Amino acid sequence: MLQPPSYADVVAASARIAGHAHRTPVMTSRTADAESGARLFFKCENLQRMGAFKFRGAFNALSCFDAAQRKAGVVAFSSGNHAQAVALSARLLGMPATIIMPHDAPAAKVAATRGYGGQVVLYDRYTEDREAIGKRLAQEQGLTLIPPYDHPHVIAGQGTAVKELIEESGPLDALFVCLGGGGLLSGSALAARALSPGIKIYGVEPQAGNDGQQSFRSGAIVHIDTPHTIADGAQTQHLGQYTFDIIRREVDDILTVSDEELVECMRFFAARMKIVVEPTGCLGFAAARKLQAQLRGKRVGVVLSGGNIDMARFCQLLAE
Ligand SMILES: *Cc1c(COP(=O)(O)O)cnc(C)c1O
Repeated sequence: MLQPPSYADVVAASARIAGHAHRTPVMTSRTADAESGARLFFKCENLQRMGAFKFRGAFNALSCFDAAQRKAGVVAFSSGNHAQAVALSARLLGMPATIIMPHDAPAAKVAATRGYGGQVVLYDRYTEDREAIGKRLAQEQGLTLIPPYDHPHVIAGQGTAVKELIEESGPLDALFVCLGGGGLLSGSALAARALSPGIKIYGVEPQAGNDGQQSFRSGAIVHIDTPHTIADGAQTQHLGQYTFDIIRREVDDILTVSDEELVECMRFFAARMKIVVEPTGCLGFAAARKLQAQLRGKRVGVVLSGGNIDMARFCQLLAE
């Protein structure tokens, strides 16, 4: 077991990703401020390389490999942004990457992963266990498995986005972060607590999949079935041990929002701020809007976690 990450690991990760990850912009909107009565700072990870913050954690984790690990390469299982993040990071660092994806993953995602040089292994998500496949490949071929969220180097890398945000915005009163398996939220919490100690930190989940909220309130990791929600980056079934420990210690509350509220935010970002944010990336802003009455006059950070959505799907959601 690796040591749980601390803010010092977020600082070390910042140095490793510098010059490789984008230092994404922090956007503001007079319309959003006027509507909410707060001062909002949006950290635009939808404009990160490969379209989501996951590049930060993957690049940091792969940068920590020793010579033997680099030579053998990395294995990851994901149908979403983690797959592309690992494939791109491996290519930049000159190592092989094997990505285990469900056979019914969107063709565009499989193609994007292959486009970054990843070797894709397809599995049947109804009859096969991807973790078992990953472990077998890791053992047989000496590959290092990098999970999407429950790993100290991944968490530290994800924390660099909020470090950059607060360095730019100055101290904040509140922070809203999307929550799936908790890599982004736990890393963000380490950075926010260090740089803005009195800040209120909120994780935000889709209403249909509130395992994180249940875990936070009951004090033990709760497992749920894969939830039905348009927030596909937050369809995780449970938090991890590292992420849960940090979230329980540093986070103030976990909130939920509906799919309809996510679509309203996607529309706002496109119409008012001229940016494409994927449904999962809207979780933080949707919750900030709901908590508006409590946020009047406050300085509020919101992480926009990603912008990867098929254009036909984007148009369909906005048209509904
Ligand atoms: C993975 C992902 C999340 C959730 O991140 P966790 O670290 O699993 O909590 C949120 N938004 C986007 C766009 C993602 O790709």
